[in-house]
Amino acid sequence: MRKKILVTGGAGFLGSHLCERLLNDGNEVVCLDNYFTGQKQNVVHLLNHPYFELIRHDVTMPFFIEVDEIYNLACPASPIHYQYNAIKTVKTSVMGAINMLGLAKRIRAKILQASTSEVYGDPEVHPQVESYWGHVNPIGIRACYDEGKRCAETLFVNYHRQNNVNIKIIRIFNTYGPRMHPHDGRVVSNFIVQALQNQDITIFGDGAQTRSFQYVDDLINGMIKMMATGNDFTGPVNIGNPNEFTMLELAEKVIKLTGTKSKIVFEPLPADDPLQRQPNISLAKEKLNWEPKIELEEGLTKTIEYFKTIIK
Ligand code: NAD
Ligand code: UDP
Repeated sequence: MRKKILVTGGAGFLGSHLCERLLNDGNEVVCLDNYFTGQKQNVVHLLNHPYFELIRHDVTMPFFIEVDEIYNLACPASPIHYQYNAIKTVKTSVMGAINMLGLAKRIRAKILQASTSEVYGDPEVHPQVESYWGHVNPIGIRACYDEGKRCAETLFVNYHRQNNVNIKIIRIFNTYGPRMHPHDGRVVSNFIVQALQNQDITIFGDGAQTRSFQYVDDLINGMIKMMATGNDFTGPVNIGNPNEFTMLELAEKVIKLTGTKSKIVFEPLPADDPLQRQPNISLAKEKLNWEPKIELEEGLTKTIEYFKTIIK
């Protein structure tokens, strides 16, 4: 049966892929966004779809609609953007969660929260398992994002405990792919854009810090599988690709795949930048029968092809 689905942050990088996939699966999609880091351009190809609707709205304000499911993705995700207005970032995560959970409660919709590996902070447990509580600096420059997302998780589990709202929490690890904004500021888009323009590739710190990169299609599959689980499973569940790379290795791969003349330069490491990050995905394998399929070189190749079409 056709479901009516609300996607907050739907005009962003991940949201636009999710809207497209949900429409292709035969659903009706309402995309809500304030265009802070997202853009109409990301969903312009969906505007003529008879079951797609785009609404400009800020999730810090209440919103009323009748839907079956809500995917709550609204929140800037790149450090430069979430630190630009830190107070607004906290409001988006916390008030956005309260508004969307209140809506889910009232209309009895299932609701999924796009949480993050950042809830683990600069982790002392490696790889990260869902039972690890994390190592977050509550007054650091990343706290507006990390603590906002942690508080959102708290709100989700308490709406479940107190009001029996059907919640789902996924902790997303670094995800990349087509439709990342060229000035998004995250490492994969930065390196590819720099390489395609033969500009210096900027490694922050010594490049020994690690991340585990997941291609967007794998994440969207995991997200949809999580939403489809029964009432007895709320998560949180890690959704990420466990293959771990240093930033130096990532830069070298981008240089090889683009054939650029760019040189690597080293810039200061921002405060509280996590040294390592890698998901343990045993729970996702067990509960969702999910694991990522696209490895880094294949995903980077697709992403480079996309950026070639938009970088002049
Ligand atoms: P993005 O910045 O491209 O998308 C976020 C979207 O939310 C944008 O369209 C933005 O305009 C919108 N938005 C921001 N504040 C809003 C507000 N107050 N009201 C309405 N809309 C608002 O980032 P993304 O990578 O697509 O991330 C989407 C979600 O996934 C975020 O919640 C992010 O925290 C989470 N996440 C992403 C990653 C990743 O690697 N991409 C990792 C962990 C978690
Ligand atoms: N990074 C980098 N050069 C850049 C952008 C980021 O070396 O131009 C580093 C950053 O310091 C971090 C890693 O790449 O160690 C991932 O950064 P990103 O902002 O993509 O995500 P997050 O830190 O939130 O995982």
